[in-house]
Formats: sequence, C-alpha cells, structure tokens
Amino acid sequence: MNRCSQCNTFVSFEQAEPEDSGSDVDIAGAYGSDGESFNDIQITGSVRLVLQCANCNEELAESDIEMNCEETFEHEVGCEIDPDSTEDVTSQDVEYTATDGSEGKGRYRKQFYGAEGSVSVSCGLCEATMDFNFSELVQASHFSPI
Ligand SMILES: [Zn+2]
Ligand SMILES: [Zn+2]
Repeated sequence: MNRCSQCNTFVSFEQAEPEDSGSDVDIAGAYGSDGESFNDIQITGSVRLVLQCANCNEELAESDIEMNCEETFEHEVGCEIDPDSTEDVTSQDVEYTATDGSEGKGRYRKQFYGAEGSVSVSCGLCEATMDFNFSELVQASHFSPI
C-alpha cells in the first residue's frame, strides 16, 4: 500500500491510460516478386506510464518506456505497388492501452505495468489492411514517485 499525498489515505495504485509522447511508423519501400509485394514496417514509440491513486486519481508515479516493433506488411497478390514510392502505403495513428501482469507468488510476486500499442497500415492500391500489435511491460520498481 502507498500513501496518497492528495487524499492522505493509504491506497492502491491504479494504472492510467498510457500517454503517447512520440510515436513513429516508418514504412520502407516495397519489394517482392511474382506479384507478391511487401513493405518492412518499423514502429517506435515513447510512452509515459502513470500510476494513479485508486481513490482520487492523483498521479503518484511515472515511468517512460520506449517501444520498438518490426513487422512486414503484405499486399494483396498482384498489387501494382511502385517499389520506389511509399506514398500508397499509409498508417493510422498508434493507439495505446494500459496492460499489466505479474510473476511469482506471495512476497516473491513481481508486479508489471505496461502499454500495448496497435496501429493499422493499409495500401491505397490493393486495399490490403493489416493491424500490428506490440507491447512492453516494466516492473513496478522502475516507476519514480511524482
Ligand atoms: Zn488519493
Ligand atoms: Zn497494395
């Protein structure tokens, strides 16, 4: 249990929604043969995790994490994507949701908090759409008090 400086009671932590402090979806030029085309996708994100008071929502601790994910985007067979152009493959904004987990039992139990990111990438030519998901967890001890 932790004491909240705002409502002055012993409270448990509750994870707030992760804050996106800068995400980037880098889509490389297309490659492939025999009508099959692919693009390599690199997703990077800086995310601020916040633990708040379960009673009054005061922010009590924070941790900044870096996320990194490499994926491959597959076009529909026969897509006439131009290998030298990345204009036809576009991504939506990365969305983050809170996630957590634990390991072990009793006093050896470790609590983890983290973020799960998802982003949708699509091709304007063949209309293929793929959703990419990635996540990162950090131990509760990595959070600093605010
Ligand atoms: Zn409080
Ligand atoms: Zn395509």
